[in-house]
Amino acid sequence: MNLLEHQGKTLFRRYGLAVPVGVLWPQPLPISAGGYVAKAQIRAGGRGKAGGIRFAENGETAGSAAAALAKAEIGGRRVEAVLVEERLAIAREFYVAVAIDRDRRCRSFVLAAQGGVEIESLPADRVRRVPVDPLIGLRPHHLRRAVAALEPADKAVAGALSAALEALYRLAQGEDADLVEVNPLTLTADGRIVAADAKVTLDPRAAYRHGAREGFAAADGPAEGEEIERIVAAAGGTAVPMRADGNTVAVVSGAGLTMATADMLTELGVPLRCVMDLGGAPVSGAEGMVPVFEAVAALAPEVTFINAYLHSSLADKFAEAIRAAYGRRPFPGRVVLRLLGRNAEAGHAILAPLGFEVVEGFVDALETVARSARAAGAREAD
Ligand code: GDP
Ligand code: MN
Repeated sequence: MNLLEHQGKTLFRRYGLAVPVGVLWPQPLPISAGGYVAKAQIRAGGRGKAGGIRFAENGETAGSAAAALAKAEIGGRRVEAVLVEERLAIAREFYVAVAIDRDRRCRSFVLAAQGGVEIESLPADRVRRVPVDPLIGLRPHHLRRAVAALEPADKAVAGALSAALEALYRLAQGEDADLVEVNPLTLTADGRIVAADAKVTLDPRAAYRHGAREGFAAADGPAEGEEIERIVAAAGGTAVPMRADGNTVAVVSGAGLTMATADMLTELGVPLRCVMDLGGAPVSGAEGMVPVFEAVAALAPEVTFINAYLHSSLADKFAEAIRAAYGRRPFPGRVVLRLLGRNAEAGHAILAPLGFEVVEGFVDALETVARSARAAGAREAD
């Protein structure tokens, strides 16, 4: 269960980690001499790059920024609420998280002295892990090692970081959170440690231990999540949203191939917006598939990768569904197609007029997608 930023910050406050003074728009704004930041509340990261974070000089401009965000779609997601906060004067940004470490069967701190950027984009040697044995519990030496990884400039900052990390660990444990991530945890110009962002994932299996959880639970699930998750689920597949600012969508047949595709593309540095496993959807024929491809087109990805290896369903039927959807709503960007299996040749013939890039080998296809995504990214940066 992914919480919205403001829900995560409510938990932070409860556990003693400082957060910026803020309100959910349209409540009256707190007084802030340093201006405001209006933040779209969606269940995905990368909002900054996707236009979901707006800075404002005064209450009036903050109000209009919030009103605009409330109506916006950020990375294809409906904005669920807008958080307006005092703008922090940030001196330094850290990355800190408490995550379940499945290999070690414990919780680990994950830390980087440089925050504010996506953790996946940092070189591995800049990210530290400090595992905490659950049978021993959190001890001062864990905190000392975790703080050292953040490279504080002096004792005062080190002390404040230690208190923040302890609060996060207690929160993860106390709330049964699979993940508590603060990126960035900031050192403000006046020397305070404040959580500028919050990503909290609660374990739904432990919900019974936490009572009503002030309505957090009701706000989760595909019904309230992204439209595409609902559409793909209705067709019998699964859509996994990734980065709101991603430019590539992968549509894949089968869970194994989907995971391999997602892993390989991520390794190749492709910013994935969404990955979908069609699951049983192709079996249901064109009617079931058309809404899925229409939903993909609606995301307007720069690159769409269709990677299908069909056995029980037929590649030509699958191709017909793509053509039907395309006829109603063409995919705006480039499309890389890898279509193998029963009746694949007929499928290719059906799709030939659409001008997709057809690639047979998996590695070739991945490289083609990565090249296209890079080219699209470079065009955007211009
Ligand atoms: P995300 O892009 O979805 O992770 O959203 P964040 O809440 O992390 O905001 C993105 C970036 O905006 C952060 O990494 C900060 O650099 C910046 N930011 C967010 N809040 C503030 C703030 O109050 N003051 C300043 N100066 N920068 C902020
Ligand atoms: Mn962030």
